[in-house]
Amino acid sequence: MAQERFLEKLTWSEVADRMHAGIDAVLLPIGTTEQHGRHMPLDTDCVIARALCERAAQAAAEENLEVLIAPTLNVTLSWYHMQFPGSLRLRTDTFLHVFEEVCESLHHHGLGNLIAVNGHGGNVAALTVAVNRYYETTGRRVFLLQWWELAADVVGAIEGPVIHAEEAETSLAMALGQRVMMEHAARDAYDRGAAVREAGFPWTSLGKYGLTHRGPGVVVPMDMLADISESGVVGDARRAKLETGQQIVETVVPRMVQVVRDMSSSGSSPPAPETREASPAGAAP
Ligand SMILES: [Zn+2]
Repeated sequence: MAQERFLEKLTWSEVADRMHAGIDAVLLPIGTTEQHGRHMPLDTDCVIARALCERAAQAAAEENLEVLIAPTLNVTLSWYHMQFPGSLRLRTDTFLHVFEEVCESLHHHGLGNLIAVNGHGGNVAALTVAVNRYYETTGRRVFLLQWWELAADVVGAIEGPVIHAEEAETSLAMALGQRVMMEHAARDAYDRGAAVREAGFPWTSLGKYGLTHRGPGVVVPMDMLADISESGVVGDARRAKLETGQQIVETVVPRMVQVVRDMSSSGSSPPAPETREASPAGAAP
């Protein structure tokens, strides 16, 4: 039987044994519970993050790198999906605390080398704040990775927008065994700017929104999705293909292993920046 790698599936004594044998990194999958059109279930981001962690842990084991996977954070930042039945949300400040306290709990047991694996675009800004704030206050460096960035070369080659429940995400969900009902796949708000203008909300031609946005851009807030998309899809889910998803998986997983390897073999975290003494040159009185 394959080695169990999900922390919550182990007994406490098994966790102790694993730690004694040595753990190279801990992956923390982060999803959300939110609508993904009529063609995919609410847990799609959780399934993607967790399955990528599982595959990365297996691939790492082939290189004798031991990885544990923390429980998936499955209710996060989905306030802009709340018009759709079943979507759940945390307030942003609550989420920042949840992230920090989960990291602290793992650290309490001596589980370090944490890598957050985020499957939800709506979490990017807060998680970027979270990992920086965690370092600022504890001196512990948590890395944050996201499949659309790790596979930017593959995902960037997709013709349509990479936003929500569209071609890329639907393809990836398929490749990772999620329930996908292609007969219900939709194309909606394909041009997000046009959809926002049509809904009568402020927009700029330099507005950036897609996860693969490159070049000049302006951050605009998320939209309440039912205002711009009837189905909940933003992009074109009908173009999704299993092969596209497999290509993303085959690109992302080895790069996740590379991050594990790098983290495991590089130096330990320094003291927290905010407690570090000022350098002699800049000594305060
Ligand atoms: Zn999603």
